[in-house]
Amino acid sequence: AKKDGRRRARTFDPSMLQVLEQRELLRRSLRVALQHGEFFIEYQPLVDRSLAITGFEALLRWRHPILGAISPVAFIPMAEADGLMSEIGQWVLEEACRQALTWPAHYTVAVNLSPAEFLTPGLTDRVSHTLDTVGLPAERLELEITETVLLERTINNLDALNTLNVLGIQISLDDFGTEYSSLSYLKNFPFDNIKVDKYFINDLPDDQKSQTIVRFVIAMAHGLGMRVTAEGVETAEQASWLQAEGCDRLQGYFLSPPLRAELIDEFIHRSLL
Ligand code: C2E
Ligand code: CA
Ligand code: CA
Ligand code: CA
Repeated sequence: AKKDGRRRARTFDPSMLQVLEQRELLRRSLRVALQHGEFFIEYQPLVDRSLAITGFEALLRWRHPILGAISPVAFIPMAEADGLMSEIGQWVLEEACRQALTWPAHYTVAVNLSPAEFLTPGLTDRVSHTLDTVGLPAERLELEITETVLLERTINNLDALNTLNVLGIQISLDDFGTEYSSLSYLKNFPFDNIKVDKYFINDLPDDQKSQTIVRFVIAMAHGLGMRVTAEGVETAEQASWLQAEGCDRLQGYFLSPPLRAELIDEFIHRSLL
């Protein structure tokens, strides 16, 4: 389907049909994936400036029986579009909170909230009910939201975030700087933590522009009483630059890739040696 080089309009392209069929297959599979137990969670450590573990971020995984591992970047938007993400997200929340109970008592667990989940009515009741049921103190839960969710329904968003905040849950602004960034979010919403996107970390420590931006974000966040987490830290050089600049937490392959739950005990043990 590719040899002749140029693409003509209205020409039937069999590879396109395959893509559509695959999407349809995925979509149908997604509807039953939860009942079939095909989801699991991996946990990626976050560390403080002295590289001590502060907790883990829960990252959803889907292993399709035939297609194998499918990236959350591919299936989460699909689940959102089909209205499945609230149910899946609730499963993630409960599962992640249960896991956190098996960790040292000062570790937190961070759970991602997709826009659809965040905008579902009753979110705060659902979260606080889950914490009660599982028995996890609110202080040990961190919720990560991206700027996209703040674009809509500002008053309700503010209410929801304030309620979560009052419960003692920590709120993180994920992927900071990559979406519809607006500093007004930082003024209006009660974030505890800003996660600087990997995009700004990638070219550290050499790239001047990245340096300037990251320094600025750290200074601004600290001035606002928020902490900063750098995402996607892949090298020792990036880590030491960030430590020296006062970045509060680091996350990335340099420290550890996301781990299956069974491997966490060993990881914690090794990190304490
Ligand atoms: P995210 O929340 O920004 O998560 C960070 C992503 O970067 C993860 O990809 C993680 O595996 C990856 N990562 C971590 N360290 C490094 C690094 O050093 N280098 C590189 N190149 N990548 C690194 P993952 O697990 O594929 O998740 C992708 C996105 O899917 C997440 O981005 C998040 O937006 C979404 N997601 C994952 N799990 C959930 C979930 O339970 N609920 C919701 N709503 N979204 C989720
Ligand atoms: Ca995240
Ligand atoms: Ca992120
Ligand atoms: Ca991201």
